[in-house]
Amino acid sequence: MRHSVVDYMNIVGEEVIVSIYKLAGKLYNRSMVHINSTYYGGGVAEMLSSLIPLLNDVGISAGWRILKGSPDFFEITKKFHNALQGDSLNLTDNKKRLYLQTNEDFSTYTHIDHDMVIIHDPQPLPLIKFYHKKEPWIWRCHVDLSNPNPDLWNFLKRFIIRYEKVIVSSEQYKKPDLPVEQRIFFPVIDPLSPKNRELPQSVIDSHLRKFKIPTDKPILLQISRFDKWKDPLGVLEVFQKVKQEVDCRLILCGSMATDDPEGWQIYQKVLNRAKPYLDNRDVILITAENHVLVNVLQRSAAVVIQKSVKEGFGLTVTEALWKEKPVVASNVGGIPLQITDGQTGFLFDPMDYDGFARKIVEILNNPDMGREVGSRGKELVREKFLITRLIIDYLHLMDELLNRC
Ligand code: UDP
Repeated sequence: MRHSVVDYMNIVGEEVIVSIYKLAGKLYNRSMVHINSTYYGGGVAEMLSSLIPLLNDVGISAGWRILKGSPDFFEITKKFHNALQGDSLNLTDNKKRLYLQTNEDFSTYTHIDHDMVIIHDPQPLPLIKFYHKKEPWIWRCHVDLSNPNPDLWNFLKRFIIRYEKVIVSSEQYKKPDLPVEQRIFFPVIDPLSPKNRELPQSVIDSHLRKFKIPTDKPILLQISRFDKWKDPLGVLEVFQKVKQEVDCRLILCGSMATDDPEGWQIYQKVLNRAKPYLDNRDVILITAENHVLVNVLQRSAAVVIQKSVKEGFGLTVTEALWKEKPVVASNVGGIPLQITDGQTGFLFDPMDYDGFARKIVEILNNPDMGREVGSRGKELVREKFLITRLIIDYLHLMDELLNRC
């Protein structure tokens, strides 16, 4: 069902809704286009699917285009993504050539005639080179930029400096060596989307039946792409430690994004390692792309884990907090923006397997403690990380750039 901004009134209050309409009123007939590289899988696609229709709902002509690329292109950009988060990279001329060629090809059949252009992440970053620029271009980078591979960073900087502004997800990701204004937009979730809306018990039960998920043991859950930075093997190890103390079940759910070719290799590794637990369904691996199922799993979990080694922001954490779940997570990237240890969840060093396991056992033995922490998490999300706030951020940005004289 398509939502209108007024539908959010009960969740965020009248004042927020009125401020959105007021801001939008200054921008009627203005347009913006967002470009990223996948329709689904991962946080960016998730946010755009909610943001774009709601901007249109308040009178902004907002469009969304997807960069088309070959499997080789996405192999390269996944390597770039990993290197931006600190991995090493052999930045060959061939890689650079295919990266630029794909962007140039796309530009020849993608006409841009908007008042503002928002480019998401590194895949479509060089597009700016192939257009006659008539409007402000913004680079919205969602990855952790605190320690990028220097060769890659120098190469990408040649494109970034052509942009009017750079938007990142955390203060730590701002780059002192970038002569472009940088600002922060915290990522958000949509409380009315199929992934986050409240669900009747009958829908929860039918999904659990359909995906053969027994409910006789407490469920530990990590929802994440099968990606090394999300450390699914580490989650399995933590689960094994917890299971020695309390009988429980682990669900790892990660759909395969079209711009992430590494997913199946990592899935296979996890599958091999989880073999002893698969027959009795003590470990369940799910690769379906199903938003209601994610919602059902998050609502059915006793504890939500996010054991990332690096994490741009971690919308899965936001989603779990919104559902008042106790979250045990790594103290990395954007996660501490959402979790204050002991207040809205629990934080550990990603290598502290024992810490993770001990806390999970404690919560399983004391569900009241988990509930209390979970409900504080929900209020934090209401205040800072809902889609209505992102709409306001974009409208402010548009107002600032387009109504500046
Ligand atoms: N997601 C999903 N199905 C999956 C795995 C992930 O719908 O099987 C969603 C998840 O619910 C969240 C987003 O993808 O909305 C992941 O965003 P996050 O910021 O946690 O990580 P990213 O994938 O962007 O690194």
